[in-house]
Amino acid sequence: MGHTGADPLIYLDYNATAPVRPEALAATTKALTAVGNASSVHAAGRDAALAVDQARERVAALLACSPNELIFTSGATEANNLALRSAATPGQSLVISAVEHPAVTEAAVAVADAVGSTVHTIGVHRDGTLRLDELEEALATSPALVSIMAANNETGVLSDLDLVVKIAHEAGALVHSDATQLVGRLPIDLRRLQLDLLSMSGHKFGAPQGVGALFARRGTVPAIRPLAHGGGHERGRRPGTLNVPGIVGLGAAAEAAARCLDQEASRIRLLRDRFETAVMTALPGTRRNGHPDRRLPGVSSLTFDGLPADAMLAAMPAIAASEGSACAAGAMEPSRVLLAMGLSRDEAECAIRFSLGYATTADDIDSAIRHVIDAERRVHAALYPNTTTSASGTAQGQEGPRRHDA
Ligand code: PMP
Repeated sequence: MGHTGADPLIYLDYNATAPVRPEALAATTKALTAVGNASSVHAAGRDAALAVDQARERVAALLACSPNELIFTSGATEANNLALRSAATPGQSLVISAVEHPAVTEAAVAVADAVGSTVHTIGVHRDGTLRLDELEEALATSPALVSIMAANNETGVLSDLDLVVKIAHEAGALVHSDATQLVGRLPIDLRRLQLDLLSMSGHKFGAPQGVGALFARRGTVPAIRPLAHGGGHERGRRPGTLNVPGIVGLGAAAEAAARCLDQEASRIRLLRDRFETAVMTALPGTRRNGHPDRRLPGVSSLTFDGLPADAMLAAMPAIAASEGSACAAGAMEPSRVLLAMGLSRDEAECAIRFSLGYATTADDIDSAIRHVIDAERRVHAALYPNTTTSASGTAQGQEGPRRHDA
């Protein structure tokens, strides 16, 4: 259902998808008005191929890799599947973390089943950072690949990829990172960070939806095993006519993001901190999920004590944000990520993810603060009518609100 309230929608769901950047819109629109298959040898085809080459260079510049180490895909889901399938080896394990996106967890299980390998999952600490002791233990399972996300989609918590690469390489494993939430938001330098494989997606930083890329380091990844069979596109690694409008949009978004990555990150971090400070000061029953510093600048995952996220979000229709839970088989399931961090089901069900991005303004944040505080007070009053204090969580002796799983 669309937002129909009088207030303009305050979009704080950049981790779900970001608005298309003007530069990407212009590039994609231009490509859509041209004709040309990048594989055709006539002038129109050559123009399309040149536009793709330029986009590849722009994405390579954002990642500090070589253009021919990039394979354009439909997004990070496909890139993750391609990475895992290419690295999986019979008899050797795949090591992943408990907080990976389903595009890694589900792909790992499917790929392991297909090749006769096993999946070994390592946990995280209460603050969402990786259990490096469990990573060390997992290396005893002789992994072909260690796949650890760069930044978590729900909490924004960052992985220490330098350390992961060092530990995994010493054990002879390849390293993949699902960097979907990091690319275009924080700098990454693949000349320095020796990942073997990296997945990214354009729509998290202002490219159109449905385009992304897999980075595969030249010389270290034995062979890319295509997911589909067809023509020789992308040097035989990803068959199918190239999505030229999407790819040039990705290139334009990459260039725009790269131009002011540090300034944008600082500005967004200040806004996020202002939001958290105001909300957590006004509502002392609110807790932050995830490491306070080691996280993306634009993410704030907050648990509103005793107040289910769906009730809170319904009470602030002017804000677009996400609840941690996901709908599985018709029932609400609390976030796997928050449960893996040791939150209870109740705590996880009361978590909301606010995610800011390049177009978020100070006015957005000031209005969001007002809407969140107001929603908390109203939901609290509705669920705990006999308590006088709002904003401080479940009062002693009160019966809690009804749960999805009650
Ligand atoms: N990995 C992570 C961490 C994500 O956040 C997402 C998008 N929610 C994906 C993978 C999937 O990306 P795409 O939509 O490009 O397939």
